[in-house]
Amino acid sequence: MATVLWHPDAIKRPYKAKGKPWSGGSGNPKFLFHTTETTGLPNYSAPPHMTLHPGVKLWQHIPFNMAAYSVRSGKVDTMTFAYQIEVIGRAREVPMYRAVPWYTEVAKLIQWFHDNLGVPIEFEDFSVMKYGQLAPQRRNYATVDAFSGVLGHAHVGRGIDSHWDPGRLNVELLEEMLNKPGPPPPPTLEEEEMLPLKYGDGMEDGQTLTYPPGHPEAGAQFTTSRFYKRSDVRAVQGMLRDAGASVNTDGVYTVKTAEAIMFVTPGSGADSNGFWFHGNDWAPTLKAAYGGSGSGGGDLSFGDTVKLTQP
Ligand SMILES: [Zn+2]
Repeated sequence: MATVLWHPDAIKRPYKAKGKPWSGGSGNPKFLFHTTETTGLPNYSAPPHMTLHPGVKLWQHIPFNMAAYSVRSGKVDTMTFAYQIEVIGRAREVPMYRAVPWYTEVAKLIQWFHDNLGVPIEFEDFSVMKYGQLAPQRRNYATVDAFSGVLGHAHVGRGIDSHWDPGRLNVELLEEMLNKPGPPPPPTLEEEEMLPLKYGDGMEDGQTLTYPPGHPEAGAQFTTSRFYKRSDVRAVQGMLRDAGASVNTDGVYTVKTAEAIMFVTPGSGADSNGFWFHGNDWAPTLKAAYGGSGSGGGDLSFGDTVKLTQP
């Protein structure tokens, strides 16, 4: 049962029909979408809960603890368990409506039903919308009852109803406009230990860095987007510390770590135990981090041991 009975921004516009008893069905909240097929507020004998005139007005006719009338009852009254919303517009023209204000206002209202009445941001298939009691998109009572989210008049009352409103709704556009749940907060290092780590995860976002003077690609910029485990990053940080760089061995690949890698460039060549530690040379670096026999000069290969010295 709805705890919010009236939309706070809607103009109350009751009709003679004050609402039918709300059944709730199986408790799957639904936003049942209609188009009025008019250019203004109809003089309803069978009102919905709300009418939206996008960019113009929002009305409410029936409180949310009562059922609305916009779907005709027929043999089985399928609609004492859906919030029914009429949007001023024509089913045939719905795919062509401009994003502003038609779709933005519709998205705002769907979001409100999600936030206040628990309607999931899920959409029935609006790609095929045809007229007729046995139109392919039309569902039976049980299927409609089981669905939770946004569906159209065209989806309900198989064998009973024939309306095809609201037509081919641009669901893709609506989904873009609706607030999707944000990414979860970054996990702690312990939780993340064996998960891939993206450059910049943790304390700082990924950034574009410039190779320092002395580097073979000095002046060029890079942004690393490869994925590594925190344990790998920690191993590299340990090597950097051994080489005298001031970095934490926290396994978080921050800009500071990247800069240390770029600056710890003790030299190269067959006679040196040092290596150019390029910002984008992670793969051999990580292989080297896992031990092996010593080697010198050139690119690292699997099994090599890295010995760093400060420049
Ligand atoms: Zn309708």
